[in-house]
Parts: sequence; structure tokens; C-alpha cells
Amino acid sequence: MFRIKVPRFWRYREFRYRLSAWKCIHCGEVHFFKPLVCRRCRYREFSEVTLPYTGKLLAYTIVRSPPAGFEEYAPYIIGLIELEDGTRIVSQLADVDPEELKIGMKMEATFKRIREDGVDKIIAYGYKFRPAIQ
Ligand SMILES: [Zn+2]
Repeated sequence: MFRIKVPRFWRYREFRYRLSAWKCIHCGEVHFFKPLVCRRCRYREFSEVTLPYTGKLLAYTIVRSPPAGFEEYAPYIIGLIELEDGTRIVSQLADVDPEELKIGMKMEATFKRIREDGVDKIIAYGYKFRPAIQ
């Protein structure tokens, strides 16, 4: 009998389908991965927070020479977005052409396929940002 391997995607689905982060209890600094110590104040306790899904575009750049594993997606756009709570996040942008982008425009998070794992064909999902549908 075959054993069905549960893809990582399903096991981590909850994690992947929200923008979660770790907020320092002492100074409020937001970290995307749970750190040992806060990078700002060296405190060691954090609370998990869900970040807002919308924000505004602060800057963007077009990537034409991507890192290994992402070659087939080039060129793509990377943006710096300031979320409603002031958290700044770097993310790939989707569903938009560079000439349509304007600094300050409203953006929203969307969950997209990021890449396919070459060995076991596991598809990785993650967030991307696109112009908010008004
Ligand atoms: Zn801190």
C-alpha cells in the first residue's frame, strides 16, 4: 500500500494564509520570524500578531536577475509596502504592470503560488501584494 505524503503546504496552510508576525512585548518592534532576542531592544518575549492585509506602496523595483530557483519568473516586481499599522514589508507584486504602479497607491495582500519544488513537485504558496480593488 502507498503511504500518502502530506505536502508541507497543507500542514502549514494556516501559517501561510495569514500575515503573521512576532511583536516584541517590550518595544513593539515587529519581526517576521520569531527571533531569540528583539533586534531593537534585546528583549526576549514576543506575542504573535496578525498583520493588516492592506497598505500603501512606498517603493518598487523590477528584478531581472533573480536568485537561483526563481529564473523562470523573471522579470518580476518587488515592492516595499507600509501596512495600515505602520509595519513595512517587502513583497513580490502581482497582477500589475510596472507602468501602472504609483508610489502611495493602496495595495492588498493576496495568496499566490510562489514556486514549485523541483524534487517532489511541492508547490509553495505565500503572499504577494497587488493594487487594492477599490
Ligand atoms: Zn523590543
